[in-house]
Amino acid sequence: MIAESLKQVLRELPEGVRLVAVSKFHPNEAIEEAYRAGQRVFGESKVQEMTTKYESLPKDIEWHFIGHLQTNKIKYIVPYVALIHGVDTYKLLVEIDKQAAKANRIVNCLLQLHIAQEETKFGFSFDECREMLAASEWKELKNVQMCGLMGMATNTDKSEQIKAEFCSLRSFFQEVKAKWFARAETFRELSMGMSHDYHEAIAAGSTLVRVGSKIFGERNYQN
Ligand SMILES: *Cc1c(COP(=O)(O)O)cnc(C)c1O
Repeated sequence: MIAESLKQVLRELPEGVRLVAVSKFHPNEAIEEAYRAGQRVFGESKVQEMTTKYESLPKDIEWHFIGHLQTNKIKYIVPYVALIHGVDTYKLLVEIDKQAAKANRIVNCLLQLHIAQEETKFGFSFDECREMLAASEWKELKNVQMCGLMGMATNTDKSEQIKAEFCSLRSFFQEVKAKWFARAETFRELSMGMSHDYHEAIAAGSTLVRVGSKIFGERNYQN
């Protein structure tokens, strides 16, 4: 079942778009099934859960942290995380840099932008992000690598609204890339799209889709 759904999603991805299989709240067995079908990139949103899975599953898995990261927990994932999607404050970036230096690593990060109309989603506003980048202090942070941007669209059935939100993030990506990362080849990821809106995200230029329930089924939050 999982292998089938996984392959179905993969078939729909054009070249240049990678899949983060979001396995949060699902057990190791579910991840192992996707792993046997060839999937190596998994996304988790809780530090404790991701770390337990990292310790017990094959070491060639690329773990992406897609949740809201608390500063006191950074140290647990910094030794192994492949990409942190949701960096939404400068303070968090500084803290990741500090812990990454201690672990003697360079940690890949995406800046999260608030593009939805809901109040609840985290992220910089476009202006806050511009200000942070213009201030240039981030250039001193040698143990974080800025790899691109991430965003979540409003949870709605209105396809036009979702498309407009993803397109606004895509334009912002191009602006930021041209202004601050024109020569940085590593700044190239645009993480957008989940189970219900990844088609819109791909049409708008996503390079990383984060798909969970479409592959693993509904989540059991008691786990
Ligand atoms: C849970 C989650 C996803 C996956 O959601 P699905 O609807 O199950 O595909 C994607 N991105 C983030 C940030 C998430 O927290």
